[in-house]
Amino acid sequence: MELSENQNKEALNHLLDCVINPEDKVSGIIRQIIGQGVDSLSKNQKHHYDNTIKPSLVEKCSSTSCNQPTVAGRAHCGACALEYGTDSEHITDGETVA
Ligand SMILES: [Zn+2]
Repeated sequence: MELSENQNKEALNHLLDCVINPEDKVSGIIRQIIGQGVDSLSKNQKHHYDNTIKPSLVEKCSSTSCNQPTVAGRAHCGACALEYGTDSEHITDGETVA
């Protein structure tokens, strides 16, 4: 799955917020990509991006019957999000919705 520029940024921000330790040097690389783009990375950083960061930007859709990839941080792929809603993972079971 090829991410659009916006999807790419969304996934990078998700990694920064929820996945990567702020002390990790990877977080510095991600910040640089968000601020200045992939082209600004040094050869070593780019290597890190391709091997460590890039594979984490896409996850499998949480729907068990679905094999579509989705942007990291989103529970469902585009098709399933239409069906189940994008934030279904945050809804607590048993909670009364007014
Ligand atoms: Zn799906």
